[in-house]
Amino acid sequence: MQVVKTVAGVRELVAAWRRQGLTVGLVPTMGYLHEGHASLVRRALSECDRVVVSVFVNPTQFGPGEDLQSYPRDPAHDQALLEGLGAHALFYPAVEEMYLPGACTWVNVEGLTEGLCGKTRPTHFRGVCTVVTKLFNIVAPDRAYFGQKDAQQLAVVRRMVRDLNMNLEVVGCPIVREADGLAKSSRNTYLSPQERTAACVLSRALSAAQERIKAGERDASAIVAGMRRVIEAEPLARIDYVEAVDALTLAPVTRIEGEVLFAMAVYIGKTRLIDNFIASPAAS
Ligand code: AMP
Repeated sequence: MQVVKTVAGVRELVAAWRRQGLTVGLVPTMGYLHEGHASLVRRALSECDRVVVSVFVNPTQFGPGEDLQSYPRDPAHDQALLEGLGAHALFYPAVEEMYLPGACTWVNVEGLTEGLCGKTRPTHFRGVCTVVTKLFNIVAPDRAYFGQKDAQQLAVVRRMVRDLNMNLEVVGCPIVREADGLAKSSRNTYLSPQERTAACVLSRALSAAQERIKAGERDASAIVAGMRRVIEAEPLARIDYVEAVDALTLAPVTRIEGEVLFAMAVYIGKTRLIDNFIASPAAS
């Protein structure tokens, strides 16, 4: 696996692959890699001749007071994990390589970024869309892989690619969970043992909702209310949001008619965790 730290280096590598007629997949990450990231890399390897994984803790997607400084980092572990998976290149740029002095251009997706996580993180998706666009321009992949874990991010990136005629396919990949249901996340490392146990309340709330839908419930508001009750019973949990929205437009819905995204952000102690699932009317 090649470790590349410069934009020019990635371009050279990808150009050489292109001359051989090879297809290229990109997996953007912020590092501290776990089995969730690994599932994206495996999927990319199964669909593309060459796979580039980027590891970049993108400062522009963190708001003031968020965890940019403390975000977990372990480059040696990430590199070893990616070698083991068989990724072809790790793009590991410094902040100065990605953002030149005086950079003042942003990619802003409206509407879809205003609700859910956008409410408490008003500049987050602008940072995500800008860095993802830059990565797309640097790597020029045929396909880019994103996890359903960050459901709003996936919907926003899909819309951005459509609206701006970006020439690649966005591939969404299922959420990878711990044995007890907690969605894998680099931020799980912040949890104390007691909080780690309490964090299971997110997936428990999702399972409760899925059970009701299986039993025929189609009232999305009633399902959300039930999810809130499950979470509120956990003393260490504090709800940021629990919502039912249209899976494509992210507009709020009250009934399950088309595909509905049930999404939540919940603080466990100081750590903000997200989780979600998609329900469709035919789910029972
Ligand atoms: P991050 O490093 O947190 O920015 O995540 C990089 C990519 O990995 C994003 O597309 C995430 O949605 C995806 N991802 C993170 N955790 C998981 C998980 N538990 N299951 C599936 N994909 C994940």
